[in-house]
Amino acid sequence: MMNISYQSTRGGEQGVTASQAILKGLACDGGLFMPDRIPRLELSMKELAGKTYQETAYEVMKLFLTDFTKEELKACIDGAYDSKFDTEVIAPLVKADGAYYLELFHGSTIAFKDMALSILPHLMTTAARKNHMDKEIVILTATSGDTGKAAMAGFADVPGTRIIVFYPKDGVSRIQEIQMVTQKGDNTAVVAIHGNFDDAQTGVKQIFGDKEFAKELEEKGFVFSSANSINIGRLVPQVVYYVYAYAQLLNNGEIQDGEKINVTVPTGNFGNILAAYLAKHMGVPIDKLICASNDNKVLYDFFRTGTYDRKRDFLLTISPSMDILISSNLERLIYLSAGCDGEKTAALMDDLARTGAYTVSGDMRERMKDFVGGFATEQEDREAIKEVYQNTGYVMDTHTGVACAVYGKYRQESGDPRKTVIASTASPYKFSRSVMEAIRGEGLPEDEFQVIDLLSQASGVEIPQAVEEIRKAPIRHTRECGREEMKRTVEEILGLL
Ligand SMILES: *Cc1c(COP(=O)(O)O)cnc(C)c1O
Repeated sequence: MMNISYQSTRGGEQGVTASQAILKGLACDGGLFMPDRIPRLELSMKELAGKTYQETAYEVMKLFLTDFTKEELKACIDGAYDSKFDTEVIAPLVKADGAYYLELFHGSTIAFKDMALSILPHLMTTAARKNHMDKEIVILTATSGDTGKAAMAGFADVPGTRIIVFYPKDGVSRIQEIQMVTQKGDNTAVVAIHGNFDDAQTGVKQIFGDKEFAKELEEKGFVFSSANSINIGRLVPQVVYYVYAYAQLLNNGEIQDGEKINVTVPTGNFGNILAAYLAKHMGVPIDKLICASNDNKVLYDFFRTGTYDRKRDFLLTISPSMDILISSNLERLIYLSAGCDGEKTAALMDDLARTGAYTVSGDMRERMKDFVGGFATEQEDREAIKEVYQNTGYVMDTHTGVACAVYGKYRQESGDPRKTVIASTASPYKFSRSVMEAIRGEGLPEDEFQVIDLLSQASGVEIPQAVEEIRKAPIRHTRECGREEMKRTVEEILGLL
């Protein structure tokens, strides 16, 4: 097998092994790591059709993480995709109302972030061992609500690691917040920042880019890494479920071998849909990648016009995990579409940082034509949830609702008859109030857990363990900070002051 090495999207770092890229998170020039080529699957889709999730994961991940041994990678996979998931198939595909919902929320924190964050700690500690790392790894994470909890669940009490999570104080659902502030583990810290997700993400990136701070930390025995989807160790595990979904459709006789499908993904930071794009380039017969946004429709405008413009109001919606104006992983698509030209990518990212916008060339747009942008308003989101529930009894969450609404509009406008997989990114229980409002209208009880009980009656789906365990859990984290105080807060938490 040929080794794959990693390079920065901004051209300033090359020849990095997979394990080093996972440890570092972000490249030293502020760019994101990308493999030097996208490998092709070694097995046909027919051969993959009979494989378990874990076997599929191995077939996909070994092609990217070429400096991990077979034993190492298999141990990581087996440690991640086990009984923490409430179903043996890990990512079930449910047919409802003419679409296939790829349910990515059966892990311990009931959002799709578990798909990658249950394996990232294993990949990272293995990478640390391989690279003879003697420092304590400090995971810094900005979250729009789901990453934070999933990352803490993965890293809690993992020896040699600490994790610090920043979330927007008024920008997450009640359940998301309770999940985070009740997190156990002596190595976990949670901070509510007085700002939105973009502020949190920008602050974390600034801390990563602070060379002097990094040096100071190193002397104290710490090194930073990231659990955000800028880490290639998040992206690679996410490719797996798109390969698995196609294999399941084939296995169940829903499609012919080689038949192309569309994929619709509710999108925020562009990590999930980028994984689908990589799956396509590995050989999975995917036609269109439909990028679904909520009212923060910066990506919809980008695919329509070629200009990415974040200079607009940040809106808080009922799909908070997609409330994002700076989609970090889009940089990886920009890089690929620029023919892997680091200089060109760096110049565009510089435009974004300086002016709040950039425009890509016609050539680059041509190379992005597999993507179709769409968006759904809150009202369209609610209607989609209600309609599928009334037609089939199937209840989806508010993020999946955005994808469902966008897919419906796309299908009507384009007449494209292809079958579609809709990435179902969270359990409806995580957004129970908004989901019940969509189904029942106003007038729900004040108490969040009473709403959960109503949802259970409406959906007939058992209340997940993740919800039961926070009903009475004590609050362990109350820290807050201003946008400008993130670095100081990190110093405080690490005991450096
Ligand atoms: C994170 C998240 C998204 C957005 O995924 P990206 O990879 O950031 O585009 C969508 N839905 C839910 C529920 C999420 O947690």
